[in-house]
Amino acid sequence: FLGFIGGCIEMHDRKVAEEALKERETELQQVMNVQKRFVADAAHELRTPLTAIQGNLDILIRHPHIPEDEKKEIVQDVQREATRLGRLVNDMLQLARGDSGLAFKEEEVDLHRVLHSAFRDAERFSEDHHLELGKVENVTLYGDRDRLKQLLLILLENAVKYTPAGGTIRGTLVCSDSRAEVRISDNGIGIAEEDIPRVFERFYRVDKARQRSEDPGGTGLGLPIARWIVDQHGGKIWIESEVGKGTTVVVQLRAEPVT
Ligand code: ADP
Repeated sequence: FLGFIGGCIEMHDRKVAEEALKERETELQQVMNVQKRFVADAAHELRTPLTAIQGNLDILIRHPHIPEDEKKEIVQDVQREATRLGRLVNDMLQLARGDSGLAFKEEEVDLHRVLHSAFRDAERFSEDHHLELGKVENVTLYGDRDRLKQLLLILLENAVKYTPAGGTIRGTLVCSDSRAEVRISDNGIGIAEEDIPRVFERFYRVDKARQRSEDPGGTGLGLPIARWIVDQHGGKIWIESEVGKGTTVVVQLRAEPVT
């Protein structure tokens, strides 16, 4: 009889183990599918600037006597595409490292200082925009200072990129109930309601044609990187936006106000 009970338990255990294994397999399959899609999308994104570079170099080789101004334009085009290629590779490497579970630092960070410093940096790439800081409370939290700065720079770069010259970009930082809230607002082109959930997807870009022509174009990886940084800090990020009016990106992080 004991042998029979023992057999039943063994069978039950084996069944549980088999089910657990199946579950792990499904999880693994899902991770692999995501990776496969990332590689396919990445290859596609890399091919676009590469094709443009090859095409332009072809023209230069085949027509060595084209007018100087035309030549200059072609070379500038190659340079723009090469910049874009570089950006894509950098962003992809970041996300790949993120997927492999790279550790974030746990240091004491004065978030207000990081915000001030990101705004100072943004002056350099903003050209004709008004950059202003509204209410900025002193907030300290535990996290990775460099990553948090990178997060703010991504949001500021987007605000600049998608706001016509002369527009205003505003930042605020408040803290209550152990929660810091950073808001980066612009009065730019805005994002349609149906696109808002999609802009955090890798390589998703709302409308490639709407970029400023001299810009080499984004990678569609800025917001996914931003979200990854926020996730690693146990925070939340979301977008409030209206087409033609502007966009606000809100980041919430666990923190304490400095008294
Ligand atoms: P990109 O490199 O294209 O800027 P992101 O992942 O940072 O990639 O953003 C994805 C898309 O979300 C952008 O292509 C743009 O269409 C939209 N977007 C992001 N930020 C803003 C903003 N502040 N205003 C309007 N559209 C934005």
